[in-house]
Amino acid sequence: MSELLSKTEYQQLAKQLRLPSKAIVNGEPYAAASGATFSTTNPATGEVLANLPACSAEDVDIAVSHARAALEDGRWSKLHPASRKKVLLRLADLLEANVQELAVMESLDSGKTIFDCQTVDVPETIHCLRWHAEAIDKIYDQVAPASDSHMAMIVREPMGVVGLVLPWNFPLLMLAWKIGPALAAGNALVIKPAAETSLTALRVAELALEAGVPPGILNVLTGSGSGVGEPIGRHMDIDAVSFTGSTVTGRRFLKYAAESNLKEVVLELGGKNPCIVMDDVADLDAVATHIVNGAFWNMGQNCSAISRLIVHKVIKEPLLKKVFQLADAWRVGDPMDPAHRIGPLVSPAHFSKVKSFLDQGEKVLYGGVTSDERYVHPTIVEVEHNGVRHAREEIFGPILSVLTVDSLQQAVAMANDTEYGLTASVFTANGTRALRAARAIKAGTVTVNSFGEGDSTTPFGGYKQSGFGGRDKSVHAHDQYTQLKTIWLDLSDSEAGDI
Ligand code: NAP
Ligand code: MG
Repeated sequence: MSELLSKTEYQQLAKQLRLPSKAIVNGEPYAAASGATFSTTNPATGEVLANLPACSAEDVDIAVSHARAALEDGRWSKLHPASRKKVLLRLADLLEANVQELAVMESLDSGKTIFDCQTVDVPETIHCLRWHAEAIDKIYDQVAPASDSHMAMIVREPMGVVGLVLPWNFPLLMLAWKIGPALAAGNALVIKPAAETSLTALRVAELALEAGVPPGILNVLTGSGSGVGEPIGRHMDIDAVSFTGSTVTGRRFLKYAAESNLKEVVLELGGKNPCIVMDDVADLDAVATHIVNGAFWNMGQNCSAISRLIVHKVIKEPLLKKVFQLADAWRVGDPMDPAHRIGPLVSPAHFSKVKSFLDQGEKVLYGGVTSDERYVHPTIVEVEHNGVRHAREEIFGPILSVLTVDSLQQAVAMANDTEYGLTASVFTANGTRALRAARAIKAGTVTVNSFGEGDSTTPFGGYKQSGFGGRDKSVHAHDQYTQLKTIWLDLSDSEAGDI
């Protein structure tokens, strides 16, 4: 990890940054065919950072035709896997050489703290690209069991032209989770970053060209969900879409696919993630540290954020006391100051949505909105039962709801009483109970005595309405971006005798 700079040094870097102002299609800077633009702003100040092309269906058509040509002539898909690996490793090296520039750009555009951008988002992005690059030449195809006079091969081929539609909460990291395996598998991509946070995807596309990803393979179109996202979802010549975002929008992509060409759809969606703490936990300080990090990291704008603390009544008071103490240390303010852990929410619209969860006489145990209408303190709200809005809806802000139980059985039932199933955590000193709970909870990732999302080696995705169709991360992510083909050979040959 590169060293953190001072606030003044980051501000200086921010002033010197060259911010992208064009989309990228077929390896070239690209303006929308209509000439329209939209502005992307700095959530900490409201200042306009750049005007970007407001692309539309016409631009999606152009990008897809370049992607299709690039796919079909084999400039990427037919390279030796080791050559694709070399290019992707070079891309990771280029990102590493630009860690601070990328961290500052990400922080400016999204309001994420520079501390997180430089210590988590950018390094994890680089690690993710390296991991998938390294996997390229280690994934084997299969030969199926067949009779002596047959040979049955199961080969993986690139999915084709793939659309990637991304959220604003981890602009670089969600990009990496998708382009890592998608490029490794040899596909051609048309990417739509979130309108609020498009800058770093454009910068990565520039660096990808520099690293040797051929023109036409990694196209980035900026614009709105209706202008670019929907035309990608409905395009007749896009073979698959991988989407990360809200459940409401994800659902639309299934409709788009059903009403167009039945493209493959993978959805990584929202969560309402439970964290169970039983009365036998050994180290309350460690538990509280995980809870504060899990609930408030990235201002709670995290699909896997702990949002329901389901705590045994005996341990509730001492645990909350420690959680409050630790949350006190999370300083709120200018995200460009490396001492700050909480920046502004991504936009005024999102602030209003999050604030609406604190407007109806809730029992706020800790925190609340700040006097500055962009920031929300780490906040803890007591709720009486799992049926209230705080316990059911994804808030996507730094608000943790606390629910009290008196048994593990009750806790697991409550954890599962949700339409979501992305992540969950269980804290107990009893290993058997921990594993029983982990197996009983319907979620794609369950962490025991910790909060987290696993690492590059483990798949990530949701049960129930938290996901559909596949997983990000690990070798399982490669399944999203490949088609399986059976090649069946008849080897019977009367003249070959009995060899
Ligand atoms: P969102 O509103 O669903 O937007 C996601 C993307 O879809 C954006 O690029 C958006 O474009 C686009 N979009 C919006 N409306 C569309 C439409 N009608 N048709 C096609 N595309 C459309 O989600 P978000 O607010 O950016 O992200 C937060 C959500 O992502 C949360 O629910 C969070 O839980 C989820 N998330 C899930 C994971 C996971 O791995 N499971 C990871 C991170 C985040 P605009 O740019 O115009 O908004
Ligand atoms: Mg922005």
